[in-house]
Amino acid sequence: MKHLTIDEIINFVTIDSISKENLELAAAVNGHILVCDKCREKVKAFQTVSDSLTGMLTPKTDLDFFEDIDM
Ligand SMILES: [Zn+2]
Repeated sequence: MKHLTIDEIINFVTIDSISKENLELAAAVNGHILVCDKCREKVKAFQTVSDSLTGMLTPKTDLDFFEDIDM
């Protein structure tokens, strides 16, 4: 069985738009992780990393906080 490559996994977890390539990738990855525990664990691990990175990169601005400051 051909396992997923790191590149395929990273591309899969960072898909942010629907294109022919992305749909094909998603179908291939989903099809594989259904039958392969090893790659499913890897995809899960990358999704966790990706989620925490996205959380860190998203600026959290508290507008009420700034409104309270009298400039
Ligand atoms: Zn695999």
